[in-house]
This record gives sequence, C-alpha cells and structure tokens, in this order.
Amino acid sequence: MSIQDTLQQIRTQWMERISRELARGEGVRLGFLEQLERFYNLVEQTVMTGDTAWLDPILYDWGHSPTETNLEEGEYYVSFVLNRMTTLTIEIAREILNEKDALELLAAVIPIFTHSLTVVVRYEMETRVAHISNELHKTQEKLQELDHNKSNFISVAAHELKTPLTLIEGYTTMMVDMADETGELPISGLLKGVNTGILRLRQIIDDMIDVSLIDNNLLTLNFQPVWISHLLNLLNNELKKAIASRKQTLVVHQFDGSDLMIYGDSERLYQALNNVATNAIKYTPDGGTITINGRILPGFIEITVSDTGIGISAEHQAIIFEKFGQLGRTNLHSSGKTKFKGGGPGLGLPITRGIIEAHGGAIWVESEGYDEVKLKGSTFHILFPTRTEATDPLITKFFGHFKETPQKIETDPRDKKESPTNHSAA
Ligand code: ADP
Repeated sequence: MSIQDTLQQIRTQWMERISRELARGEGVRLGFLEQLERFYNLVEQTVMTGDTAWLDPILYDWGHSPTETNLEEGEYYVSFVLNRMTTLTIEIAREILNEKDALELLAAVIPIFTHSLTVVVRYEMETRVAHISNELHKTQEKLQELDHNKSNFISVAAHELKTPLTLIEGYTTMMVDMADETGELPISGLLKGVNTGILRLRQIIDDMIDVSLIDNNLLTLNFQPVWISHLLNLLNNELKKAIASRKQTLVVHQFDGSDLMIYGDSERLYQALNNVATNAIKYTPDGGTITINGRILPGFIEITVSDTGIGISAEHQAIIFEKFGQLGRTNLHSSGKTKFKGGGPGLGLPITRGIIEAHGGAIWVESEGYDEVKLKGSTFHILFPTRTEATDPLITKFFGHFKETPQKIETDPRDKKESPTNHSAA
C-alpha cells in the first residue's frame, strides 16, 4: 500500500484518538479538530512533495498561539502536543497496520513530526522571550514611576518640613537669647541642645532636597573660580573639632594642581569633600588617621581621601553611591554626625556623586574589604575636571586676571605651607 493510502486509512482513527487524548471539553475539541484536519492535510502534502515548507504557516500559527496563562506559567503547550502526537502515531500504526506499512509510514512521518517540533520550539521560545522582555519593560516602567513618585514625595515632604522647622528655629534662638540675658543657665543649656537637634534636622532636610534635585537633574551649579587648596584649608579648619573629639589625626597634603584656578561651584564642591571627609572620620575608630592628598592628571585633578577605618566590602561598595543604599542597616543609624559608625540616612555619598558628576567628574572607592579588627581602611577618589573656563564667558572674562594670583583669596596662613598640614588630637 502506498504511504498516501496508509495515511488515508488511519486518518479517522488518528483524528479521533488524538483529539480525545489532547483536547479536553467539547468546545475546545471542535476547534482542535479543525486544526488537526489542517495539520494532517499538510502532512500529506509534505509526504507527497517531500517539501516541509508546506507546514510553515500552521507551525507559525501554533508557535505563536500560547495564551497569557501558558506564558505566565511557563508551559510549552504546542511542543507537548506535537510530542504526544508522535507517540500516539507510533501506537496507532502498531495497532492497526501490518508491520511493513507501519514501518513505511513511520519512516515517512516521523522526520516531518521532528521537523515540526524543532520549528514550533523555536517559535515558542521567540514568543516567550518577547513576552518576558515585554514584562521586564513593564516592570522597569513601573519602577521608574515609583522612583519618580518617591523622589517627588521626598521633595514635597522636605519642603513641608522646612517651614515649621524655621519657626521652631526662630523661637528657640529667641529663647536662648532671653535665657542668656536673664542668666537662666540651665534653660540656656537645654535650649542649645534643642538647637543642635534643629541643625541636624535641617541638614537632613537639605540633603533630602539635594537628592531630589539631583534625581530630577535640577541641580544648578554656580561656576566660579575655585582653588582646591582653599577648599581643603577650610575643611581642615571645620573638621578640627571632630578630629579632636575622636582623637584622630588629619593630614592634608598640598599637591601639584591644588593651587590651580579652575571653575566649579565652590560651595557644592566643598559640600562633596566635606561629606567624604566626615565619613572618613565616622567610619574610622578613635586614634585613626585620615589623609587627604591628590595629583594632577591630564585634564583632571584627582583628590584622594584615605582613612585607616573599618573599610567597605566589595558588595557594599557597589551600593553606597545609590540613594538610601545604607537604609538596610538600620542598626547603625545614629544622630551623631561624626560618632563612630553612626550611619545616617545614606544620602551623603549619592549627593556627593551627583555634585561631582554634575561637574563632569567621577567618584569611586577602593577598599580591601570590611574588617573592624584589621582596619583595612578605604580610599575615596574624586576626579575633577580642570575646567579653565566658566560656562558663562562673562564670568571667565571677569575672573581671568585671578589665574596668576591664587594666593589673593587664601585667608588661612596655613595655606602657604609646602609640607602636609597635620591636625592631631594627640
Ligand atoms: P551615611 O549617612 O550612612 O553615612 P553616606 O551616603 O555618607 O551615608 O555613606 C553610605 C555608606 O557608605 C555608609 O553608611 C557607610 O556604610 C559607607 N561608608 C562611607 N564612607 C565610608 C568610609 N570612609 N569607611 C567605611 N564605610 C564608609
């Protein structure tokens, strides 16, 4: 018997058996039967012509037919159906055909089923990949929206908090003045405590506002001439008290390029350097050393802030520049700004990075890891472009003559020293 005749002979049983096994429910079975008829006809065409291209349209339809539920539950339904179809065809051939016809039929149709399976698997994979990337895209959009809402919330909340805080600050200052005048010392002491709290709160609110400005690309820089040596001297002075209270040593080196006049937002740059140096104090045990140094590179000045502190694990290094990267470690939260390991809201480094990047620079950290016993320390690197012109040409013109005379703005006599400036509490 020819293969075409054999195919005709088993057709009805094949349809019946496969639809009974693979399609559940009357409604589903009708549609399924239609598809089986179409497939069977194409298999016959393929056997006759030897060209598998006949099957392409139906395989394409099947490969792209998985439902949302199939996709979500990770089911490969069509390849399962084709696999079962192959097994059932072998069973049917064995049951109703003689050995010769069965072998001839299987030799003709099994390569066609295998081909169909390969094609369908590929289509199913494509559909699944498209589904997953679509889901990822939706999740990403949702996350962006959430992040945006969070950033807006922070900004609104921070501004709302600022108003009552200003009121409290004003009244407290008046009460301190009155207590000083009337000589009520205990009250005056208490009020100074309140004032310190207010100051810290204001810093946190300002940080929240800065983060939302950076997040929304709204940080505006006020480009003016800046000398890194000048900023470092100011920092040296400001940190003296904290360094003394923690019995640490602060070494600030003058380096090639620190006296160069460059353009930047001096207030913002000072804020960035202050954040990094304050962290160095905070995460270094009493008696440790903080060293600030730098060098000039083509087009950049590199400033390094090294400490002999607890160091940072590689895993943590990857998140500390992200906003609220520190939030997970609530056990470390403290209100002291320079207290050992007194973690804050985790906004300092994201703001620092925002400021440095807004200037076209970069910041990163190197540390051999976190170890509170071996104290491997950390080194923060800040790369700052040696911009010799401001964004506004008028400002460049106005400040142009300062280039050769940077000393003019140096108010601290220590600035002129060649050797490192040491502030040791010891
Ligand atoms: P925080 O307000 O928590 O200090 P920051 O953004 O300034 O937030 O720092 C994020 C985290 O990075 C810190 O909580 C701390 O875990 C880590 N870190 C920053 N600087 C240092 C440092 N010099 N040594 C060790 N860890 C540091």
